[in-house]
Amino acid sequence: MINDNYLKLSESYLFADIAKRVQTFKAENPKADVISLGIGDVTQPLAPAVIEALHKATDEMAIASTFRGYGPERGYDFLREAIVEHDFRSRGIDIEADEVFVSDGAKSDTGNFQELLSQDVRIALTDPVYPVYLDANIMAGREIVKLPCTQENDFVPELPSEHVDVVYLCYPNNPTGTTLTKEQLRNWVDYANRENALIFYDAAYEAYIQSKDVPHSIYEIPGAKQCTVEFHSYSKTAGFTGIRCGYTVVPKALRVPLNRLWNRRQSTKFNGTSYLAQRAAEAIYTPEGKTQIKATIAYYMRNARLMRESLTNIGFKVYGGIDAPYLWLGTPNGMSSWEFFDWMLQSAHVVCTPGVGFGSQGENFVRLTAFGTRENTEKAIHRINSKL
Ligand code: PLP
Repeated sequence: MINDNYLKLSESYLFADIAKRVQTFKAENPKADVISLGIGDVTQPLAPAVIEALHKATDEMAIASTFRGYGPERGYDFLREAIVEHDFRSRGIDIEADEVFVSDGAKSDTGNFQELLSQDVRIALTDPVYPVYLDANIMAGREIVKLPCTQENDFVPELPSEHVDVVYLCYPNNPTGTTLTKEQLRNWVDYANRENALIFYDAAYEAYIQSKDVPHSIYEIPGAKQCTVEFHSYSKTAGFTGIRCGYTVVPKALRVPLNRLWNRRQSTKFNGTSYLAQRAAEAIYTPEGKTQIKATIAYYMRNARLMRESLTNIGFKVYGGIDAPYLWLGTPNGMSSWEFFDWMLQSAHVVCTPGVGFGSQGENFVRLTAFGTRENTEKAIHRINSKL
């Protein structure tokens, strides 16, 4: 008597399929030096300011007078106030600390937030898409409308031609690496307010934005607080994939009382992010922390530029990589995503992510990440170039 909806999920998770193929290749070619530009994990260590904060917080845990047990449900005030100040007020956005919920990362919150909605809401998702939004809604048994993002529309989804109740948007985008301008984002906010719909906005890659005119938060758009929940993550911003911390903004101005309901949900099913992780996150807002995480982001963005320029020069169609750590690469000669994945692995010993794993519109594309080391990124480019 299991939840039948789980049987509707595709058989295995994309990265498990990739891992299986890479494992087989390595078993057959034990001497091959395989470089992964596939899964979006980071390679650079945490910032010194973060390490210092972790040590300090650990020492506090050793003394009865500074020991911390369960924390406040929405997260510690010190972190929520730093978030409000540095991520919003400094950009002229008015968000209050009780609209911020500290999380253990954006995957859980982007996956779980749909629990607050009824089963019969219509969900719109881009195709290609970060698979968590899709699978979480399949698990909940919902109807899903796909918004194709293709070369023809510059990977910018068009407004749905039919009514939808919720749309998930992710910008800078995983997997295509594209962004939306203020004008394009305003179209979505206006649509949502007109249609009485909600936007779930995933800003996990916001820190990678380099261009001046690309919004860092959807709340830069007037009217967004009435219709949008925004998800943030420190995973790529500050290398927290192993530490685990992020936050979600649930405005009190939303037309439905989601702030209250999310608080209720979280206090029932989530017991908070560790004190250590929250102190670590706070440290990225200090002057030293800010400088240090910017340097790491610049390091990855240099990888992105190297890949973008070299691959474009050798004739690939390359998208993204300007305001995002992802490049979306058209496969050559009409090869399928998986055919090109196999070619890259066999010939260049480089692992990419087949675009079709993010949705049918991702066919004939692969995703490359800028999160490798410089050495591996340069080596990978050189190998692809010499094997073509
Ligand atoms: N959202 C997007 C678009 C992502 O690509 C990722 C991670 O790859 C996440 C959320 C999850 O991030 P976290 O590590 O904070 O759970």
